[in-house]
Amino acid sequence: MRFDVLTIFPEVIESYISVSILKRAIQKGIIDVRVHNIRDYTTDKHRQVDDYPYGGGAGMVFKPEPLFNAIESLSRDGIKRHRILTSPGGRVFTQDVASEFAREHGAIMIVCGRYEGVDERVKVLIDEEISIGDYVLTGGELASLVIIDAVCRLLPGVLGDETSSEEESFSTGLLEYPQYTRPAEYRGMRVPEVLLSGNHQMIRRWRRKEALRKTLKQRPDLLEKAALTDEDKILLQEIKEEERWMQ
Ligand code: SAM
Repeated sequence: MRFDVLTIFPEVIESYISVSILKRAIQKGIIDVRVHNIRDYTTDKHRQVDDYPYGGGAGMVFKPEPLFNAIESLSRDGIKRHRILTSPGGRVFTQDVASEFAREHGAIMIVCGRYEGVDERVKVLIDEEISIGDYVLTGGELASLVIIDAVCRLLPGVLGDETSSEEESFSTGLLEYPQYTRPAEYRGMRVPEVLLSGNHQMIRRWRRKEALRKTLKQRPDLLEKAALTDEDKILLQEIKEEERWMQ
């Protein structure tokens, strides 16, 4: 899958993609991340990308020309890209959106804003605006890395164990069950015995129950939307009874 990121801070993107899983995904040829400096598409001596907002007010706005030049120039290679503008006002990025991108797009272009954002006219070249949450960042670089990272780990061959992204939080509609590693006892806290039992059926049931318990406690809103099986309903009943006893 191909990603083209337009930014005035290429080093931010390059630094993050040069380590760990993204680095390996690039080496394996599963993803190809190209970073483009928007300043390279300016035509003035000072390589200026921003200007004062019409109507006054604080801050600067990305000028249309460099972004039009960049997007149009990159699009000349004929690759069909889904063009995203990072924006706090966009569609909120979730695991479902990450899956949609991994499934439906072979190439994605991400524009990183800065300052007060981009000139509104740039949006005629954009397919959709994406927000990574209801808060305001100083720039779109972190947002673009969030998108690349979340989409990349859903692509076949990126994670060592093919099933590891299938059981993670949100993928099943629930939060993930608690995880433990060695030692079996640390500072008096023991790993649940069932995980040491080697009984795969019991481990599977325990994990499902703890995923339900965690979701019920921390994100009950997810449970309302999750497709629950008959076994899940029994487990939830057990959890509620256990919680009643604890009170
Ligand atoms: N003035 C803008 C507004 O109120 O909507 C905020 C601009 S913000 C300071 C600068 C840039 O950071 C934005 O153009 C966008 O690219 C990026 N950005 C900020 N918050 C974001 C978020 N929650 N999700 C995605 N991108 C964001």
